[in-house]
Amino acid sequence: MKLSFFGAAKQVTGSMYLLTLDSGYKILIDCGMDYEMKKNPVARAQLFPFEPVTVDLVILTHAHIDHSGNLPALVGAGFKGHIICTPATAELTQFLLFDSANIQWSNYRKTLANTKKTKRDYIEKPLFNEKQVKDCIDQFLTLNLNKDFRINPEISLKLVEAGHLLGAASVALTITEKGVTQTIGFTGDLGRANSKLVRNGEILEGVSYLITEATYGGRKHMVEKSAEDELLNYIQKTCIEFRGRLVIPAFSVGRTQAIVFTIRQLKQKGLIPSWLKVFVDSPLAIKSTPVYERHAYLLNEEAHSFMRENGSLFQFEGIEYLEDMDQHEELMHYYDPCIIISAAGMVEGGRIQEHVMNNIENPYSTILIAGYCAEGTLGHRLLLGQSTIKIKNKDKNVYAQIARTDVYSSHPDHDEVKNYILNTRDNSQGNFRKVFLVHGDIPHLEAMRVSLEESGLSGKVVVPDMLEEFYL
Ligand SMILES: [Zn+2]
Repeated sequence: MKLSFFGAAKQVTGSMYLLTLDSGYKILIDCGMDYEMKKNPVARAQLFPFEPVTVDLVILTHAHIDHSGNLPALVGAGFKGHIICTPATAELTQFLLFDSANIQWSNYRKTLANTKKTKRDYIEKPLFNEKQVKDCIDQFLTLNLNKDFRINPEISLKLVEAGHLLGAASVALTITEKGVTQTIGFTGDLGRANSKLVRNGEILEGVSYLITEATYGGRKHMVEKSAEDELLNYIQKTCIEFRGRLVIPAFSVGRTQAIVFTIRQLKQKGLIPSWLKVFVDSPLAIKSTPVYERHAYLLNEEAHSFMRENGSLFQFEGIEYLEDMDQHEELMHYYDPCIIISAAGMVEGGRIQEHVMNNIENPYSTILIAGYCAEGTLGHRLLLGQSTIKIKNKDKNVYAQIARTDVYSSHPDHDEVKNYILNTRDNSQGNFRKVFLVHGDIPHLEAMRVSLEESGLSGKVVVPDMLEEFYL
């Protein structure tokens, strides 16, 4: 069989790998949106460097757009097969895809309106529309974790808990060709041990080839406190001492729920005052939070025991979920101390940008970055510590406190990924042939490669290039 790397090779986004069996059967693992296309225009000249109509099956590891975001375009380009994922991933993915279609079309309309008629033909069109999202959802086929699923006499599939996001799975494909059976493991994105809400991930077994993320290769998460202690510290300083606003940019799916649950725990313990209001300003968070409640069986013991004793994880006195723009506008004129959680996580677009603008010149406010911010994004620029910053073409003085925390990181750091890989090798009883490192920038992938080579995997570690192919 042949393994082709069509995304997330020597970069983080655009996860997409194609397995072509000797029989011609084609399985695509993930079909993510590539936010780094401009970095590599030659390699990414085509959205799909293969014929979508010839793909037999797609397996989706989890809902994040950099893994799922090109699925509607794949369907629009003729893919007719099933898209297999867990039930929670199917639910979260549909909300994210509709949201992505809306964002693309609203940006497109804005650009059209601001472009001269003669130049409008050159504007990049949205990758898909709502109709294609609906068609794509019709092709979803859900599979629970840890169930062996036989695709045909040669191929069987198992999804294993990844611990990265609700419903996120690693994929084990066991394939027999010419009497030889091999298991190809795709980690998808991995999680950290003892994350908020989600259970710990599990190791794949009996793997011959492992395709793993190494987003944080060479880096160590600076986590000295629990999420409760970390958040309490910022709440006390900003909202109680300074009577300011704590603004937290957060992805609507996953990060927002983890932060809300932490605040719920602090309120339950009486550690923050009942008058302190919490605003979740994100329609997508309103849609995705009930998915966490519907799939509560996927949550960890901490969440379960809290639910047994206190009921809802996400509803409590003083929290308001804002859907309409009117409510958002009202919040922009709310000047009491409060906590504002809003998207997007990297502060690129979305309602959060307005909250950042509204608070950046207020020395009593804190902007707490709680996730990864890619270079060039407003979140990344905020963290550079400049004294002035351009937001929406306006120069703003930075008087607010800018802080960052790693406690909510949903990816493992260097040692955690390395241990995962070494444990997978040990679990594979001599079958283990090679590990391919993906989903990371070159320095991070290289740091992981060197470290693995020194730890007994010499000659078995590959950092594949975009479009590179391997025969397994
Ligand atoms: Zn992810």
